[in-house]
Parts: sequence; structure tokens; C-alpha cells
Amino acid sequence: MKKILLTTTSYQDTPGEHHDLLESQGFEIVRERGPLDEERMLELAGDFDAFLCGDDAITARVIEKSLPRLQLISKYGIGLDKVDVEFATAKRIPVTFCPGVNHTTVAEHTFALLLAHCRNLCEEVNHTRKGEWTRLTGNEIMGKTLSIIGFGRIGKEVAVRAKAFGMEVKAYDPYWDEAFAESLGVSRATSLEDALGDADVLSLHLNLSESTRNLINGESLKRVKDGAILLNCARGELVDTQAMVEALASGKLKGYGSDVLDQEPPPPDHPLLSAPGALITPHIGSRTYESVVRQATMATRNLINVLNGEPALAQANELPGE
Ligand code: NAD
Repeated sequence: MKKILLTTTSYQDTPGEHHDLLESQGFEIVRERGPLDEERMLELAGDFDAFLCGDDAITARVIEKSLPRLQLISKYGIGLDKVDVEFATAKRIPVTFCPGVNHTTVAEHTFALLLAHCRNLCEEVNHTRKGEWTRLTGNEIMGKTLSIIGFGRIGKEVAVRAKAFGMEVKAYDPYWDEAFAESLGVSRATSLEDALGDADVLSLHLNLSESTRNLINGESLKRVKDGAILLNCARGELVDTQAMVEALASGKLKGYGSDVLDQEPPPPDHPLLSAPGALITPHIGSRTYESVVRQATMATRNLINVLNGEPALAQANELPGE
């Protein structure tokens, strides 16, 4: 009997057809509450035919220890930064993922963070809950400039919504979809510096890699307009935490709306949890009843297909000799 390690909590906690699909296969399923760190993954590794995982540490050591039994890593989600895909590829382990199922949900969350910031939503709700009627003045987003860094699936959905709100939109991405940009009236930033330059709101939608880690740091923040808002529904490690804390403390940035942190879950004293102007949500950008079912069903289908010798719906790596 095939044995599967299932770690993603949104998959486990959200009702939907994916549960029946997985159960129908007769697998032995071991459930853990991820994201698991390398230490826990190393304790478990070696005993499974496949991982159905979230943002667990699937390092080279974990993959090595999982062999020869491991046949597949099925990532529930799109970001592969916690999986050593290069090592998996060298060991001929397919890594599957779920593009195209959560971009609308993450784009909506980006606007939840932006509007909450501009209308002091959390602060005001906290006031009224205490019986206080303290009326703070907010800002419109109409007519403001939004700069999107990473103009992929989610970045484009954010652009669509920003245009509907009457924002000016520019974007930066080395891979440029001119037809899409032109159809929506999105202007092209020619460099990161250009993208950072004159925006009222910056939104990160690029993937994390060694070249994008700490992309937003003390130096790059100097180029950002004073009083701008930064949104991050991508990865916490794209932003240098200390530089962000300082930018918020000095007022260089008015706000940081982020769904992600460099440590997840963060220690209770993580400096961004209490920094002025920081609005942090616990990595729920793709966690809606609609999106979770789409994503979980896709991750499950990827798993079943590959274990049955069929092509995945989406595979992130090409195995040597294929
Ligand atoms: P995508 O692959 O469609 O788009 C990412 C884009 O970033 C690509 O077009 C790529 O060319 C661009 N890019 C890469 N390096 C860049 C750089 N240095 N500067 C500018 N652009 C660069 O991926 P997506 O589906 O839009 O997702 C984007 C990221 O969002 C994922 O990698 C993941 O980390 C994150 N994500 C977060 C959540 C959440 O719950 N908060 C959910 C899904 C995805």
C-alpha cells in the first residue's frame, strides 16, 4: 500500500471534494500539521512514497533520506522555494505544483490589506469594539500609482483590480507580457529602480529565489517615495525584516501590509508583528473555501496521476533523460 505524508493544514481543515478523491485511492495517509521544519521532516523521511506538502522544508537532506522509497513531491501551492527542486531533479523525483488555481484569491487578499491600511480598518474596528467612536481620516486609492513587482499570474490579477479602482498601474518583470499590459493600460517599469521610484503603493508578486531574497532592503528602500505603502503577498524573505522595521519606525514607509513573514509561524516577539503601520496576516492569501478546494484537488490529481504512471497536471521539473 502506498504511504502518503500530508502536511498542509488548509487542505486538511477545509471541506471539499479533495478529501474523497484522496481517500478513494486506498493510500495509507499520515497527517501532520505543517509547515514542518527540516528536523521534523528528517524524522519522518524514508517511510513515504509521496509527500503532499505545503511549505515544509524539503531540503536535499530530507530528499536523500526519503530515498529509495520516495516517488513524488506534490506541492500544494505555487511557491517552490522550500523544496530543493534541483536536488529532486538530480534524483529523478518529480515535483508537481498548482499554477492557475489561486491567483484570484491572492489578488483579492492584496486589496484587503491595501484597503484596510488606507481606511484604518483594524484600528477603527478595535475602537468600536471597545465602545469608542474615534473617527480617523483615511486615504482614497483612486488616482494613486501602484507598482507591481512580478507581473505573473497574481500580479496581473492585482492589476485588473487596481484598474477597476481607478489606480495608475505600472509593473516590473523581466518576462514582459506586452499584449496583456497594453490591453489593460499597464505601463512597463524598465528596472527595479524605476518600479520603486514614484509609486504610492508597491506590491510584491515575484517568486523567492537566491537572487530575489532581501530584494527590499535598506538600499532599495531609499529609492521608494516617502510615505509609500508596501504590500507583500508573496514571500517574507523578499523583504529584509530589520530594514522594514526601521522604515516603518522612521515614517519612510507609511505601511507594510504583508501576508507572509521570514519565519512562519513567527516567534511572538517577531519585530514586524508590533511595528507601527505593519498589518500582518498569517499566510492566508490563498486560503478561501473556493481556492483551497481548487488547489487541493489539483495537488491530489497530480499525486494520483504520477503514482499511476501518468503525466501530472503541472510538473515543475523536467527529469534527466525525459
Ligand atoms: P508566477 O510564476 O505566475 O509569477 C511570478 C513572476 O515573478 C514571474 O512572471 C517572474 O518572471 C517574476 N519575477 C521573477 N523574478 C523577478 C524579479 N527579480 N523582478 C521582477 N519580477 C520577477 O507566480 P504567481 O502565481 O503570480 O505567484 C507569485 C508568488 O506568490 C509565488 O512565487 C509565491 O511565492 C507567492 N504566493 C503566495 C501565496 C499566499 O498565500 N500569500 C499564494 C500563492 C502564491
